[in-house]
Amino acid sequence: MADTKQPSELARETLRQLALRRVPPTPDNYRTLYHEISGTPAVEDFPERALKGLASGLPRKTPEQMRLARQIDTAIGDGNWSGIKAALTELFNKTTATPPNWSGLIRDLFSQYESRHAGTTPAKKRESLEHVLTASGTPDILFNRLQSLAKNWSQGIAAEGALAEVDAPIPASAPASALAVEGKPMGSELQELLAQLLENTLSVLLIDTPDLNQEAAGLAADIRGAVTPEQIASFTSRLKKFSYRLQFVAEGQAELRGALLHLLQLIVENINELVVDDQWMQGQVSVVRDLVGQPLNLRQLDDVERRLKDLIYKQSALKKGLSETQDRLKTMLATFVDRLADFASTTGEYHERIDACADKISKAKDVSELSEVLDVVMQETRTVQLAAQRSHDELTEMRARVREAEQQVAHLQDELAQTSEMVRHDALTGALNRKGMDEAIEREVGRARRRSASMSVAMLDIDNFKKINDTYGHEAGDQALVHLAKVVRETLRPQDTLARYGGEEFVIILADTLLDDAINAMVRVQRELTRKFFLHNNEKLLITFSCGVAELGADEEPPDAVKRADQAMYLAKRAGKNRVVAA
Ligand code: GH3
Ligand code: MG
Ligand code: MG
Repeated sequence: MADTKQPSELARETLRQLALRRVPPTPDNYRTLYHEISGTPAVEDFPERALKGLASGLPRKTPEQMRLARQIDTAIGDGNWSGIKAALTELFNKTTATPPNWSGLIRDLFSQYESRHAGTTPAKKRESLEHVLTASGTPDILFNRLQSLAKNWSQGIAAEGALAEVDAPIPASAPASALAVEGKPMGSELQELLAQLLENTLSVLLIDTPDLNQEAAGLAADIRGAVTPEQIASFTSRLKKFSYRLQFVAEGQAELRGALLHLLQLIVENINELVVDDQWMQGQVSVVRDLVGQPLNLRQLDDVERRLKDLIYKQSALKKGLSETQDRLKTMLATFVDRLADFASTTGEYHERIDACADKISKAKDVSELSEVLDVVMQETRTVQLAAQRSHDELTEMRARVREAEQQVAHLQDELAQTSEMVRHDALTGALNRKGMDEAIEREVGRARRRSASMSVAMLDIDNFKKINDTYGHEAGDQALVHLAKVVRETLRPQDTLARYGGEEFVIILADTLLDDAINAMVRVQRELTRKFFLHNNEKLLITFSCGVAELGADEEPPDAVKRADQAMYLAKRAGKNRVVAA
């Protein structure tokens, strides 16, 4: 057979010999026999069998080891040397990885435990630590969970989130999680997190779209129960469709928001057209217009609502008072005109009759005739006298009523001034007044305590303000107050609240701010005041202030914090003014 050179003939002969010798027709046997028949030396083969023998001895305990061993098996089957090399290198690196650094982790945990974090409290930290410690698991799992806990604290993730992240319950129905099949042992935790995201987080956002909300709940149930790769694949494709629909909803909501904002702007513009000529109201409208012009957040909407309420209140009080007074004046004027006409016609008739009487008198021939005429004259005069008396009485009464109306207008003005008690903003500076400040502090303290956040208050008093009044006049003093309020608002964040505490004293509520940051913020205001001069008749006047800052204590009543800030402000005055002092 050695002379048979055709490869097809060689192949046919090899197959015949395999059958004759009753050798199993494996690729190896075929190859050996082929070279024997063709007389060619056997080529150096891929040592598949030997490699498989070696691979069978690899560790296959953890999911990670199993994955790498499988990867090596596949590479051997494919005769893929570089695949084998890559998997072996990875396996080598994994097994020789440095043991977990427990001392570093414990140090990190301690330091994160003792630091303050915005999203959580010491009690919550202790709770989540206990939770992680009591949950059973291998030292490796415990190490990983403690590590994520420390990381969550450092990133300020709230305790509940941290718990879910490091310790999501693993459903009993999924012993080897579907995602673990794909080599991800955290799969069941991820599944649970995904389910919670769909079920809890999205349900709040999808409150207006019940069908999507229902679908999210269905998807949550699906991912919780998904075990096989097929179930995961079906879930993934449903999730994709769901996310497309979600995108539409999100776009729709953004459009709706834009439209609502536009509507609000329109309303504000219209209110501006309607307001009576009152400086306070014009000022409030322009503040509201500015607020509406910015991208909205909840705090600003709150502010817009409050100011609109003020406007509506004052507008309606003014309108009612003015229309009542107008009606009364109109009625009086009408009566007066009527009486005047009556009187004129009465006196007109009187003159005619007196003329007639005079005529009769001139032509009278005897006393008896005269006495008749005199009777008529007397009669007519009495009538006129009565009319005059009536008109006189009525005019006197009308004058009394006008005076009364005048008093009522004055009273109304007083009342309007007092409504600034009801109103929460100071007429001059647009800052909150005392009432507004009290409400704002309540609100901010509530918000801060709910979120375990910090909060600071600053009290500032303009230095030598009396001198500004005395030198440039009270009006200049007023404008200096307006200027100061403007600079404070421009320098601080929108979430900080400015209130006029008294004459030239202001309180600033700094949300979510620690003492040091509050001090820095007030120093920044000081600096801004030296850059943005107050201009009076083209003369640059430098306004400075003394300021005290206090951070609200954990159990402190808000007025006590304000008092401490006030005391610190006095210390700043005594220390030479134009400075910020911590309480
Ligand atoms: P100090 O640096 O110690 O604070 O001195 P000061 O002059 O600023 O303080 P003082 O309390 O002696 O005077 C405050 C003045 O502020 C007295 C008051 O007439 C004036 N004032 C209070 N409210 C207003 C206001 O609304 N407009 C104007 N123009 N002046 C006001
Ligand atoms: Mg003062
Ligand atoms: Mg002062």
